[in-house]
Amino acid sequence: MPPRRARGEAVRAERAGRPVSDWCIRCGDSDAVDEEGCCIHCHWAVLTEVSRGLQRFLVYLARWAEFRDWELAHAHQLGQD
Ligand SMILES: [Zn+2]
Repeated sequence: MPPRRARGEAVRAERAGRPVSDWCIRCGDSDAVDEEGCCIHCHWAVLTEVSRGLQRFLVYLARWAEFRDWELAHAHQLGQD
């Protein structure tokens, strides 16, 4: 099986004449089915990536909040009160 990019190019060549907006903007292998222009596989893959990224971002923010609380609680030791 050719590499994914080569397959995508072959598919695009077969579909010559169809608007580019009909193809998945992420993989170029399948028909776009969502508003963003992704195929069903890429639609869920992107949602999963975004969800994981948001979870990591929330953990990051929570750690900064913990640091801020610690910093406020120890301001007198740091000479900042
Ligand atoms: Zn796709």
